[in-house]
Amino acid sequence: MLQRFRMNGEYDVVVIGCGPGGSSAATFLARTGKRVLVLEKGFFPRFHIGESLLPYNTPIFREMGVLPKLQQGPFVRKFGAQFELGNGSLRTRFVFRHGRFNCEPEAIQVERAAFDHLLMRHARDCGAEIREGWTAMKTVSSPEGVTVEARGPDGQIHAFQCAYLIDASGRTNLTGNQENLREMHPQWKKMSIFGHFENVARAPGEAGSDTVIVRLENKWFWLIPIGENKTSAGLVMDKAEFSAATDDPAEIFQKWVDASPRLKEMMAGARLVGSLQTTTDFSYYNRSFIGERLLRVGDAAGFLDPIFSSGVYLAMWSGRLAAGVIEKSLLRGRPLPRLFAGYEKRLRKAFLFYWRVVDNYYTTPFMELFLQPRDHYDLPSAVNAVLAGQIEGGWQLRWRLRYFWLLVKLQKRWPLVPRISFAPQPRRRANDTELPRQDTMAQTVKS
Ligand SMILES: Cc1cc2nc3c(=O)[nH]c(=O)nc-3n(C[C@H](O)[C@H](O)[C@H](O)COP(=O)(O)OP(=O)(O)OC[C@H]3O[C@@H](n4cnc5c(N)ncnc54)[C@H](O)[C@@H]3O)c2cc1C
Repeated sequence: MLQRFRMNGEYDVVVIGCGPGGSSAATFLARTGKRVLVLEKGFFPRFHIGESLLPYNTPIFREMGVLPKLQQGPFVRKFGAQFELGNGSLRTRFVFRHGRFNCEPEAIQVERAAFDHLLMRHARDCGAEIREGWTAMKTVSSPEGVTVEARGPDGQIHAFQCAYLIDASGRTNLTGNQENLREMHPQWKKMSIFGHFENVARAPGEAGSDTVIVRLENKWFWLIPIGENKTSAGLVMDKAEFSAATDDPAEIFQKWVDASPRLKEMMAGARLVGSLQTTTDFSYYNRSFIGERLLRVGDAAGFLDPIFSSGVYLAMWSGRLAAGVIEKSLLRGRPLPRLFAGYEKRLRKAFLFYWRVVDNYYTTPFMELFLQPRDHYDLPSAVNAVLAGQIEGGWQLRWRLRYFWLLVKLQKRWPLVPRISFAPQPRRRANDTELPRQDTMAQTVKS
């Protein structure tokens, strides 16, 4: 079979996909002198959704040596996150630097076209060979190595040999689909409508660059400032409701903006730049994150509802972890099963951790506690750390989170904090919802 392919040189590692997961893995490996080939089906810069990053991405940028380039890039510094009810009755702001268990005080909001391109160029500067316009079609692993068949820009199929493969193909989920490993989440059959807008109203001062999440009863919006006057806005809703609607996506988007006084207020002067887009296929994981000489990173391992902006961070975190496993295996001259198993375990733990948080996000008792945090045993600090991306915190953090889950269970039956309502509220006075001036770790504002 292989005779009909053009054979290419051998590589230590082939990485499929040059999103944040692929470029971080490629950078780490190339920096240690490995022969790395990245096959990317697109041509950069290209649009991608996923613009709100977490503070714990920063140490990864630092280790990759890309932080100074990012600091000079066209990105927005982000200091906190705001969560609010669409009827305007309640909102909370988490300020990252005030979280006791949180070592990273800020993150960035990015336009992915520029961000992914910068990461790709950095991987190339570090020595990775990057080929754009190459679509990996099939992979075959054996105890000796891996063959990747890819279609090049010339339309021909080529074969590449490598010792190890990293699948960072995102939600294309190339190897997971090839092996039929994908498990969809049983309930969250969601879809999203999103676009970039100018003139979306922002809070004054530092809070103006926060990610704002507005929760309606069974749907939610994000507002992510990605430029001086550019904001990414998106609606996440049930796929079934979307499919049953006769309106087009723009009408559905507007209908739900209009249903929320808060959103209506923020989007009053907004102007769409370009067109609205839609995406579906939310929340799945592969039954295995590893294979023979293969590691899956980022969305190619699993994809989570984006409510807590964990996607890019998990992609880069797993990219770094995968690079470490391969580096050591290459050093020993053979795959190290213990390290592969360790990768699977750590990534699954991190993934299930966010999976649980997201699962809870769609329940009312969680929202009640989350939007009305009490400074009780530093619980808001623990929640703050989770929002910042602290997924492997020590015992001090872990027991607080367990305690938080217990409170969520109790809240279901016995209200520890007041119940929330998604119903329309009486009209507020003009300044009622302005955030307090002083930054606290978690501020709650009620109207
Ligand atoms: C609606 C929505 C909103 C989101 N919001 C956020 C957010 O605010 N913050 C956040 O952190 N995350 C967010 N995410 C998640 C985020 O987009 C992803 O988790 C993140 O991009 C994963 O990175 P990755 O490198 O694994 O995959 P990707 O970024 O998807 O990169 C995969 C790359 O592989 C390439 N590719 C695919 N198939 C092939 C192939 N066969 N051959 C060669 N190349 C291939 C693609 O072209 C792409 O460049 C959101 C996701 C959605 C759907």
